[in-house]
Amino acid sequence: MNAEIIAVGSEMLTPQRIDTNSLYLTDQLNAYGVEVVYKCVVGDDRALLTDSIRLAVNRSAIVILSGGLGPTEDDLTRDAVAAALGVGQTYHPDVFAGIEGMFARLGRKVAENNKRQAMLIDGAEWLENTRGTAPGQWIRTANGVVILLPGPPKELTTMYERTVRERLVALLPKQALRTRWYRVAGMGESDLDQLIAPVYTRYTNPVTTVLAKAGDIEVHLRARLDTAEAAEALVNEVGVQVEALLGDRIYSHNGDPLEKTVGLMLAARGATVAVAESCTGGLLGTRLSDTPGASAWFRGGYIVYTLALKQALAGDADGAAIAAAGVVSETTATVLAKAAAARSGATYGVSITGVAGPDGGTGENPVGTVWIAVASNQSVTARRYRFPGDRGRVRTLAAQSALDLLRRHLLSEKG
Ligand code: ATP
Ligand code: MG
Repeated sequence: MNAEIIAVGSEMLTPQRIDTNSLYLTDQLNAYGVEVVYKCVVGDDRALLTDSIRLAVNRSAIVILSGGLGPTEDDLTRDAVAAALGVGQTYHPDVFAGIEGMFARLGRKVAENNKRQAMLIDGAEWLENTRGTAPGQWIRTANGVVILLPGPPKELTTMYERTVRERLVALLPKQALRTRWYRVAGMGESDLDQLIAPVYTRYTNPVTTVLAKAGDIEVHLRARLDTAEAAEALVNEVGVQVEALLGDRIYSHNGDPLEKTVGLMLAARGATVAVAESCTGGLLGTRLSDTPGASAWFRGGYIVYTLALKQALAGDADGAAIAAAGVVSETTATVLAKAAAARSGATYGVSITGVAGPDGGTGENPVGTVWIAVASNQSVTARRYRFPGDRGRVRTLAAQSALDLLRRHLLSEKG
């Protein structure tokens, strides 16, 4: 079943107010497999609103309106829905008694124009508003339902949760939902899409969603079928192919962030990690310490921003090597990673040294160049990266890539 959402209110056509109700409603509907295929904001205009409602009910089984249910002349939603459906409205004393009760609880006196709020569209059931005065309405139509909800977000969400969700679920065809959720590091969104699109575009069910942030991509598969077994088999059929293509770039199958995945790997080995950070200034340590219980595997670290501090961490001989190689170099990254491990007593040291910009780039090391190293007393992995974007993005990508390099180092040691 498809849905449309109409947000009513001229204020949301100004830059000062945005329609957030439709985001909440979309999230709720998607959770039950209802796709929102159209949404709009309509000002307080009777003719435009009536037209929008008429179009929506002809296209979609579920039409939800928010706002415009108040007692004043510019609250037009009820009238417009009645006009679009070609039905009348009737005053309901019992609904008015409910509104009076709400006013009494709020310590206010009900006004004559609140009687407008007790007008129910013919055929409607009223939905109690426990957070405000405007009741909602639920109207079954020939091919679906039209739902009127109040505009204030607290009132809308409370009404949805208390009375609407259950009624909607009862209308929907019974279907089982099975999902797969992959988190992927170490590749860009377009590369990932090119890789897996040949698989997922062959299926409309499961629905595939690719969500990307800096250096971190989520792939969601959602399969819906009559039975749980059939949905599971379908999501598995596609999931197996996606997993084969992405391989060890998948770092989580359950939504865990990268730092937690790395923490679990370290804990499983009884190992610990320490960091030496230059251009990220502590971002990597922050990420590692984000995970509850990180003290079991995160020792701490060193923010070595200047050359002098890098040399102080490295000691005399390696300090001279840093000066000779330059701070953005494989040598420096390696020396710092080894020193972080040695100084802290951690099993692994991870280092980041690079040019976050906007200044400081050179011909050899342009802005965005970052060396990252992972060292244990057995081996070292060092890699040069060239990250796009501004200072913030370079730093975020560097911390993310360092976590991923550590993860890959741990994987390679195991194999
Ligand atoms: P009331 O009885 O409070 O007048 P109502 O149903 O008539 O209820 P509106 O007057 O349309 O609601 O909106 C009241 C307030 O709720 C708006 O000023 C706005 O701040 C907020 N609001 C309305 N619609 C939305 C929306 N779609 N998203 C977020 N906030 C909204
Ligand atoms: Mg209003």
